[in-house]
Amino acid sequence: MEPQNRHRTIVVMGVSGSGKTTIGKRLAALLELPFEDADAYHPPANIAKMKNGTPLMDEDRWPWLETLNQRMQQWEQGGVLACSALKESYRQLLSKNLSIHWVYLEGSMETLLQRMEARDHFMKPEMLQSQLDTLEPPSYALNVSISNRPEQMVSEIIAKLGTMQSDLGIVGMGVMGRSLAKNALNKGFKVSVYNRSDPKEAHILPNFLKEVPPERVLGFDEWEGFVNSLSQPRRILLMIPAGTAIDAVLETLTPLLAPGDVVMDGGNSHYRETQRRMQNLASHSIDYLGVGVSGGEEGALKGPSMMAGGSETAYKKVSHLLEAMAAKEPNAKPCAALLGPDGAGHFIKTVHNGIEYGEMQLLAELYALLRGLISYEDIRTLFQQWQEGEAQSFLLGLTAEIFSKKEGGSYVLDKVLDVASSKGTGVWSSIAALESGVPASMMVEAVLARHLSGAQGTREVWAKLRPVPKTVKQIAPETLLKAYQWARLVNHLQGLELIQIQSQKENWNVQLSEVLRVWSVGCIIQSKLVQQLQQQLSQHASLWELEWVLAQLPEGLEALQEALQWGLTQQTALPCFSAAWNHSGGLTTINSPANLIQALRDAFGAHTYQRTDRPLDQQFTTNWKDHGA
Ligand code: NAP
Repeated sequence: MEPQNRHRTIVVMGVSGSGKTTIGKRLAALLELPFEDADAYHPPANIAKMKNGTPLMDEDRWPWLETLNQRMQQWEQGGVLACSALKESYRQLLSKNLSIHWVYLEGSMETLLQRMEARDHFMKPEMLQSQLDTLEPPSYALNVSISNRPEQMVSEIIAKLGTMQSDLGIVGMGVMGRSLAKNALNKGFKVSVYNRSDPKEAHILPNFLKEVPPERVLGFDEWEGFVNSLSQPRRILLMIPAGTAIDAVLETLTPLLAPGDVVMDGGNSHYRETQRRMQNLASHSIDYLGVGVSGGEEGALKGPSMMAGGSETAYKKVSHLLEAMAAKEPNAKPCAALLGPDGAGHFIKTVHNGIEYGEMQLLAELYALLRGLISYEDIRTLFQQWQEGEAQSFLLGLTAEIFSKKEGGSYVLDKVLDVASSKGTGVWSSIAALESGVPASMMVEAVLARHLSGAQGTREVWAKLRPVPKTVKQIAPETLLKAYQWARLVNHLQGLELIQIQSQKENWNVQLSEVLRVWSVGCIIQSKLVQQLQQQLSQHASLWELEWVLAQLPEGLEALQEALQWGLTQQTALPCFSAAWNHSGGLTTINSPANLIQALRDAFGAHTYQRTDRPLDQQFTTNWKDHGA
C-alpha cells in the first residue's frame, strides 16, 4: 500500500541542538519524501558572516528564506525541510503559496545543552540563550518534546500528522509479538507496534525499532498515537499473556476504537473468555477474533500456523494479513483459516497444545526407555532415521537435535532439571475432555506426568526402594517405532474427537480436515501423520473407523503391547504409551466391564441400570443383597 496523504510539506523547526536534521531525515525516509537541510541554501555572503562569527540580521535571511520557499514549491509530492524558523515573520515567508505542517521540537535549555554535550557539539550557552530569546513558538505547530528517543519522536509526529497509516498494529513486543511484527514487515506491510511503558522494560521498544527497517514501522508506548497511526478499519493483534492483561488492554483500547475496527487476540486465551470478549466488543460494533498462533518464535517469524475463530465479516478484514504471514503448504496455500465462529479458534489451539503435550510426553517416554541402553549419540541417530520416514515430525527432529547439544564436553540435557510444569492450555484441554465426556486420556496423562515430575522429594525416597529390574531381551527398534506411531495416532484421534464433540455442542461446524490442513505446516505438531490424517479425513467422516486406521490397528497394538511389557520389566513409567494401549485395549473389548460399575452404582445408590435383555429406554433397580430370588 502506498502511504496516504503524500502531498505534504513539513518543516521541522527548533533551535540549534534540538535534532531537526536527525528527525527530519528519519521522517522523510519513513514517508518516502525528499529531505532538505535549510543550512545548505545560505548564500555565500551569509556563510562568510557565520564563519566570522557575525550574527545574521533579518535582511540577511530574506533571500535565503525566499530560496527555501521556492525550493519547497518545486517539491512535487511534498518534502521535509529542517529549518530553525525561529520567528513568525520567517515562517510567513516560508509559507508563501504553501500549506506547511510545522513540527516544533521543543526542549528546555538544560535538555538542549545535555544533548549537544552528548553529541560532542559545542555551543556557547549564551548563543543558545539568544536563540531561545529570539524564538517565537508557533501556536499552530505540532509540538514534540525532545526528551524522547528520535524513533519515538518520529512515530509520534507521523501518528499526529496522520501521514503514514499502518496496515497492522501489534500490541506486546515479547517473543511472539516481535517475531510476528518482523514477519508482517517482511511481507511488505506497514506495522505499528505498542509496548507498555513499564520502566523496567523501557529498552524493549527502542531495541526492537533498531532491529527493523525504519521505513515501515512506527513504535509507541502510548495508546492514542498507536491507534491513530492505523489505517481504518484498524486491525490490531494482541500478543500479550492470556487472562487479566487482555481485559485490561481491551478496557483502555475500546474507547479509542471506531465501529468496524478488528481486534485479534493471538495469545493462548481460554475460548470461553474469547466468547465473552467477543460479545462485549460486539456491543461497541467492534469485531473480535480469537486467533490461536502456533510455531514458537521461529514459526512466528518465518510463518506460523494460525487458527482463527469469529465472524466471517471480521476475518475478511484481516485474512490478507494473516494469510500472507502464515506458513504455506507445498501447494502455497496458507496455513491460516477461519475454522469456526466465536471461540472455535482458541478452542482448537487449546486442543492443538493438548496433542502437543501428548507428543512431547511420548518422546520423553522413548527417552526413558532408551537412555539406559544406548548412548545419546545412538538415540539421536535412531531418531534421525525415523525422521526420514513415516514418523517425521517437527518435534522428533527437534528431539534429535537436543541429543547432540553439548556444553564443555557434556550433554546440556543432563543439566536440565527433570521437573516440567503445566498450566493453561494443557490443563484446559484436559478439563474440556473430562467435561465433554471424550476419553482423551493421553493429554490428561501428559499433564499428570508433569505434575508427578514435581514430586522430587518423594521420588528420591521411593527410588531407593525400587526392585532391581530384570534383564530382558531388548525390543527391536522397528517394534518400538510401530508402538510410537500407533500411540501418536491414538493421541491425534483423541484430540480430533474432542474438537468434533465440542464443535457439535457449540454448533461451530468445524471441518476437521481443514483443522489438519492448518496444522500441516508451521505449527509445533506439524508432521507427516497430520498430513496423512488430513488426506484420510477429507474422504471419510468417522475418525475411529477410518480404513486407514483400522489397517494399522493389529500391528500397532501388538507393538505397543511389547513396548509396554519391556518398559514394565525395566520399571520405566510409561503413562502416555499406557494410555494409548488402554484406549485401544478398551475399544477392542466387546464386553466392557462397565456392567459391574452400573451394578455397583445401583447396589449402593439405587441409581438404576439398563438391561441387555430389555429395551434401552427402560431403567431397572435390583436389591443386590437379597439372594433369595
Ligand atoms: P512474552 O514474551 O512474555 O511477552 C509478553 C508481552 O506482553 C510483553 O511485551 C509484555 O510487556 C506484554 N505484557 C505483559 N503484561 C501486559 C499487560 N498487563 N499489559 C500490556 N502488555 C503486557 O510472551 P509471548 O511468548 O510473546 O506470548 C504472548 C502470547 O502468545 C501468550 O498468550 C502466549 O501464551 C502466546 N503464545 C506464545 C508462544 C511462544 O512460543 N512463546 C507460542 C504461541 C502462543 P513487557 O515487555 O512490558 O513485560
